[in-house]
Amino acid sequence: MNSLFFKNIFSRKILKTNRTITFNCSYYKKSYPVLIKVTNRKKTISIRIEKKYILISTPYFVKDSYILNLLEKKRKWINENFLKISTKKNMYVEKGEIFYLGEKYKIQLKKGINNDIVVKNSNLEITYKGKNIRFRKIIEEWYKRKCFILLEERLLFFSKKIKVEYKNFKIRSYKRRLGSCDNKKCLSFNWKLILMPKEIIDYVVIHELCHILHFNHSQLFWKEVSIYCPEYKKKKNWINENINLFI
Ligand SMILES: [Zn+2]
Repeated sequence: MNSLFFKNIFSRKILKTNRTITFNCSYYKKSYPVLIKVTNRKKTISIRIEKKYILISTPYFVKDSYILNLLEKKRKWINENFLKISTKKNMYVEKGEIFYLGEKYKIQLKKGINNDIVVKNSNLEITYKGKNIRFRKIIEEWYKRKCFILLEERLLFFSKKIKVEYKNFKIRSYKRRLGSCDNKKCLSFNWKLILMPKEIIDYVVIHELCHILHFNHSQLFWKEVSIYCPEYKKKKNWINENINLFI
């Protein structure tokens, strides 16, 4: 045994704990608290922007200096996401633009005899009747309807493929999660999924359906997911990096 070996063991123990550090971003003249969560299961580092801090999930052997370097490389993305979180109210209706299935559409308003929304090329035509219109409500109802129709179809498609049966599904408003599956095989999905690309929606559908077979996030579960969504790691990363844009 040499001293280096000792050192490694020693640092392993020390680094294994959760901790908080500060990321001083000189470029944007800002400093952010960074909460480091150490997990034994992970082999990669993930970064998530929360309202008041940066959340890092990392394997035990990663050093603070490495994390700070990584944050420096991602400073633009971090800054943008903090800005987005602080103006969360207008997240999906921004400057007359709106997300639908991962694409941005321009909102066009038209007075008519009904409240209705139609997608036309790169525009979202909103027809409305009367005065004092609550556009957000009209848009949200339309989103929820679209989300329900799409999920119904994707659930049918993938449940046949995976050979699982679910009891029912609901559309809900969640603050952070995109979907869930309970032990009675009832599925729930965040209606804001409809803002995201279809391949992400498919991943979430597959993820929840696979929970009927494996009620955990074990290796077997991920193996099952990978059969129907081979690029599931990419989708997970996409969600991690972009979720603040959408929910
Ligand atoms: Zn899950």
